[in-house]
Amino acid sequence: MTSVEMLAKNPGASFLANAQASLTKAAQALNLDPNIFALLRTNSRSLIVSLPVEMDDGHVEVFTGYRVQHTTARGPAKGGIRYHPSVSLEEVSALAQLMTWKCSLVNVPFSGGKGGIAVDPRRLSENELRRMTRRYTYAISPIIGPNIDIPAPDMNTNERTMSWISDTYAIIKGESNSEIVTGKPVSLGGSLGRIDATGLGVAISVKEVLKRAGKPMEECTVAVQGFGNVGTWSARHIAEMGAKIVAVSDISGGYYNPDGLDIEAMADYVKQSKTRTLEGYSTPGLSTITNEELLELPCDVLVPAAMENQITEANADRIQAKFIVEGANGPTTPEADAILQEHGIIVVPDILANAGGVVVSYFEWVQGREGFYWTVDEVRTRLHHFMEVAFDDMYTFGQHRNVPLRQSAMMLAVQRVADAVALRGIFP
Ligand code: GLU
Repeated sequence: MTSVEMLAKNPGASFLANAQASLTKAAQALNLDPNIFALLRTNSRSLIVSLPVEMDDGHVEVFTGYRVQHTTARGPAKGGIRYHPSVSLEEVSALAQLMTWKCSLVNVPFSGGKGGIAVDPRRLSENELRRMTRRYTYAISPIIGPNIDIPAPDMNTNERTMSWISDTYAIIKGESNSEIVTGKPVSLGGSLGRIDATGLGVAISVKEVLKRAGKPMEECTVAVQGFGNVGTWSARHIAEMGAKIVAVSDISGGYYNPDGLDIEAMADYVKQSKTRTLEGYSTPGLSTITNEELLELPCDVLVPAAMENQITEANADRIQAKFIVEGANGPTTPEADAILQEHGIIVVPDILANAGGVVVSYFEWVQGREGFYWTVDEVRTRLHHFMEVAFDDMYTFGQHRNVPLRQSAMMLAVQRVADAVALRGIFP
């Protein structure tokens, strides 16, 4: 079966297989101890919960929720919670593993976790979402905690969701515990600069890769797939750094103008639109395209910032961008990666490019523990530092070993986790 056929069958399973393939490749290159490899291939804890929720009309719907902790070798598990119909144990497992490598690569003292509920949140009212979130928090509360596993936002969850999680956990424990979750609103102990952190990290990654290729930002055109939190903030920060955003897309389709788009106007449009999408947006010079067409546009940089498995062997051949900076988790399949490499396209991998979110989540956790909060300038300066050091580690290691950036990122990340496992030893 080709990976395209596998995708159609069970997207989560193929995503997990891809994550495992990437670990295996790094482990082989590192000559990793087979015992440690066996341990890192599996999740240390997976919880599946059933969530009965009373809907507004009085009937009860039962949703399935998940929380997976890949390892706790380098610190508590850390990772977002996703609300999407595609959520499955396999998808959440792959995402938890990616979080382990991401936290390791940017050197924050966390390991990987991830959670989610299989639901289309657009179908639910605000009250239904709140009841579902509280029930989910209650159900996973035995295995989360500020020193155990710290959730955060991911696809279709946000500050509002984190407020409900924080409040529910505080009620269960009988005490306020602001470090239980990150991505909270600033008024509930969140960090300044968290909301746009992933997008800023993507923009810093674009800047770093272009700098090394000797290309000024001002001369580059960029297409961004996805216009949620990551896509919107990536586009804003990339435009602010001088590059021209020529295309963006969301579930309603793609919007292209080779002369450049007005990202602020588009973000405002989404805010006031009934569907919370770009549907119906139009300005002079704008063409509407499909999400697939956006990936294949002539541009310098492509930022996939939507879902996993977007660049596959079915379309990799047609990609014209010279650089791909992965805002989403797992947007490129291994087969596609090989094709891109053959074409000389440089890929900045997800575990580096979208790590800005978890870096500022770490800052939020630290600030919550201290009870002392930083200015937005302090947050941004420190985020730049973490991202630039990690980029440099990855780039330099890749040059020494003569391997592409994804492989060097994985080798560095896996080695650090393997060292931690070896130092701890196997219990008992
Ligand atoms: N969901 C984000 C990610 O995939 C952020 C996770 C976090 O801050 O813990 O990196």
